[in-house]
Amino acid sequence: MSAGTSISLRARAVFLGGPGAGKGTQAKRLAAAGHVAHISTGDMLRAHVNQGSDLGKQAKSLMDGGKLVPDDMIVAMVKERIAQPDATAAWILDGFPRTLPQAEALDRLLGASAERKLSRVVYFQISDAELKARLEGRRNCNQCGAIWHVATKPTKRVDTCDACGGALLQRADDRPEAIDKRLQEFHKLTEPLRAYYQNKNLLRIIDASRTPDVIYQELVQLMQ
Ligand code: AMP
Repeated sequence: MSAGTSISLRARAVFLGGPGAGKGTQAKRLAAAGHVAHISTGDMLRAHVNQGSDLGKQAKSLMDGGKLVPDDMIVAMVKERIAQPDATAAWILDGFPRTLPQAEALDRLLGASAERKLSRVVYFQISDAELKARLEGRRNCNQCGAIWHVATKPTKRVDTCDACGGALLQRADDRPEAIDKRLQEFHKLTEPLRAYYQNKNLLRIIDASRTPDVIYQELVQLMQ
C-alpha cells in the first residue's frame, strides 16, 4: 500500500512503546490515511513549550531531563483534546497513557459506553540498544517538522532539511543523559501497562525493529 492511500479505520487505539520505537511516525501516517485524529501528548506538550504557556513552562525542564510530566496535567490536557469534534469518533493516542494512573484515568474518561471503548492497544517491541541508536541520531526540522537520522536517513546537506531547507535540530531530550532517563522512566512506569491491557484482552505486540513500511502494513491489518 503506497503512502497516502486512504484506508477504512475504526480505531480508538493506544500506541505503547519506548521512546523512539516509531509510534509517532506510524500514528501520523495511519491517522492521515484513516481520517482519524492523531493525539500525541509529546507534540501537544512541545506546542505548549513553544507558545510559552503556563503548562509549557512547567513541563519544559521535566521534558528536557527525560522525566515524565505529572499525571494530572497530562490527563486534563487529554480530556480536553478528546472532547473536540474531530476526536469524538476515533483516534490514535500516541504516548498516552504512560503510567497506570493515566491508563485508569483514560478508562474513566471513556466511561462504560461500548461506543467509546478502546478498540486496540499496540505495543511496539524493540531493544533499548536500538532505541538509543535511533534517538541519538534523530534530527528534527525546525520548520516543517520532518524527522531525519544522521545514519539511517541522512539529509543531502548536513543539518539542512531536504524537504524545506529548514535547520535541523536535536531535541534536548534526545541527548544521551536524557535518553537514559527516558528509558528508565519507560521501564518503570510505562511497561506495566502491557500487563494492564493484556488483562483486558486489548494488547497486540508488533516487532518495531523492522522498516517503517513493513510495520505500517501490519498495523493496517491489525486496525482495520
Ligand atoms: P514523546 O514525544 O512522546 O517522546 O514525549 C516527550 C516528553 O513529553 C516525554 O519524555 C515526557 O517528558 C513528556 N510526555 C509526553 N507524554 C507524556 C505522558 N503521557 N505522561 C507524562 N509525560 C509525557
